[in-house]
Amino acid sequence: MRGIMRTVVMSVVVLILLCGSVHVAAGQTAGPIRLLVDASQAPQKILHARMEIPVSAGPLTLYYPEWIPGEHMPDGPIIEVAGMKFSGGGKTIAWRRDLVEMFSIHLDVPAGVTTLVADFDFLLSGPASGFSAGASATASLDVLSWNQVLMYPKGLPAKDIMFAASLRLPADWKFGTALPIAKQDGATTEFAAVPLTTLVDSPVISGRYYRAIQLTPGQNPSHEIDIAADSAAALAMTPETQLQLHNLVMEAYALFGARHYRNYHFLLTLSDDVAHFGLEHHESSDDRTAERSLIDEAERIEFASLLPHEYVHSWNGKYRRPAGLATPDYQVPMKDDLLWVYEGLTEYLGEVLTARSGLQTPEQWREDFAGLVAQYENRPGRDWRPLQDTADAAPFLYDATNDWSNWRRGTDFYEEGELLWLDVDETLRTITKDKKSIEDFCRAFHGGGNAQPELKTYTFEDVVATLNSVAPYDWAGFLRSRLDGMATKTPDEAIEKSGWKLVYNEQPNTVLEIQEELARHAGFSLTVGFSASDEGTVADVIHGGPAYIAGIGPGMKIVAVNGAQFSPDVMRDAIAAAKNTTAPIQLIVANGAQFRTFSVDYHGGLRYPHIERDDSRPDYLGEITHALVKDTAGATD
Ligand SMILES: [Zn+2]
Repeated sequence: MRGIMRTVVMSVVVLILLCGSVHVAAGQTAGPIRLLVDASQAPQKILHARMEIPVSAGPLTLYYPEWIPGEHMPDGPIIEVAGMKFSGGGKTIAWRRDLVEMFSIHLDVPAGVTTLVADFDFLLSGPASGFSAGASATASLDVLSWNQVLMYPKGLPAKDIMFAASLRLPADWKFGTALPIAKQDGATTEFAAVPLTTLVDSPVISGRYYRAIQLTPGQNPSHEIDIAADSAAALAMTPETQLQLHNLVMEAYALFGARHYRNYHFLLTLSDDVAHFGLEHHESSDDRTAERSLIDEAERIEFASLLPHEYVHSWNGKYRRPAGLATPDYQVPMKDDLLWVYEGLTEYLGEVLTARSGLQTPEQWREDFAGLVAQYENRPGRDWRPLQDTADAAPFLYDATNDWSNWRRGTDFYEEGELLWLDVDETLRTITKDKKSIEDFCRAFHGGGNAQPELKTYTFEDVVATLNSVAPYDWAGFLRSRLDGMATKTPDEAIEKSGWKLVYNEQPNTVLEIQEELARHAGFSLTVGFSASDEGTVADVIHGGPAYIAGIGPGMKIVAVNGAQFSPDVMRDAIAAAKNTTAPIQLIVANGAQFRTFSVDYHGGLRYPHIERDDSRPDYLGEITHALVKDTAGATD
């Protein structure tokens, strides 16, 4: 998964399993659970679900999925369930929620009833931000996550519960999914019966403005990008982007040496009115980004690494998964301690593939990377929270806002994890005198035969053992010191060993500039020590930095800079003018309804991060980001 800054705050209760006897819904062998989802009113922000569950008489517990795969936390959107009713043999059946396991519904099936009918609506009024529980439908499109529109009986592992699902869409909408289709009849599609795990792993995007493009025409397995957008104009993918996505598929195959899916679908949603994030699945990915991401150059650069990241998860996350995340169903709590592998290595390999496929130019990639290294070199929270704890605490850190993010730390196992795995790659190259690299690790860990989706779990010891099989070294010590140590040298070491060095100068970083413009946000973290919206509302304040010492905190609004109305440019001008002077920068700041002037004592001038070649060392970064595949055959519709 990969997100953007989230503002949604949820209260999360980790539930203890208290129940005694297991109630299996009898009749599971008699046939699958039928699930009919009516999405014809999706633009009106409501879905209808009807389930027909084979049962036998007696107590029955139904689960609403709580821990969502790839989201690593108990964020199943149960709050959006409404109109829930149960019946059997034409009669209403009463229900009661469990007081401890609140995603559990208890019923008593009357004698003679063999099919329980469950009806409920799913309200598509989720928050504008977030992950799959966030906004998912607009006037012209919908992204269906099956876990939101189903319940399943307690007692069997999810892989052993069969579902036969069908979906009704608004007239004239088209759809894309990795789920095999059994039959299509007008606006209603029946899908093949699949295990619950496959269903939940196979979302459906649909919409009025829709396009499917083959990225590897004539090849088996097929790779398709299915695009639903809020306008016809947004679908106009350039031939260059098509070629780069073709390259992405070929470069990933060259990296891993095997594929573990039947076919692969990138499900791309282009809308400014849905939550923006990516969520991995084994044979597809749910990728949601700004409407103009394919046709606006700045948006295209900003979203360049989203598809590579989610695609890598098919190998690292779905095929290979930490044992603590491979839970038997959606109610057993997940353990997030190995997210620095699941997400950190994915972040690293996703960035590598972004460069190799040409989705970013080498210059763009290096500017992006410089911004990342600078951020982690200047992250005071690394002094108290070890990288390991950012993974352990992920279920609530995903909900953290940007305020104080440098001091609290957030889900840093993504980006510091990327730097950690770059360090692993460089160390492999160094100790084997360039004979081995992360490619050898990936082939050993993620490779094998080309096959259907399969899940192979792993532990920390398995990661260490595979690294040792590639090149014997104290890998356990290497990893543990960087995971458990405080303020480790990870960012500095990763860049130094790469044959490049981080420098700061007064030339703006071209990619950070694009990111800030799109986010309508300005970063002054490397100078006065805060970031703010274009209107002056302070977000993060660097703990111990000049603005912090002056008394400034998140949520305050900067009204004026040295007597002039705040704007990012006015702030930058003031920072430049304060260089080599002794007069502090004067900020008039609103803290709620109260105004105060703060004096920020900073005289270091403007500082933007870049990386420069260090000729005294081998150019590992150049090698790592260089394409492996020569074939660049074009993709076609
Ligand atoms: Zn991810």
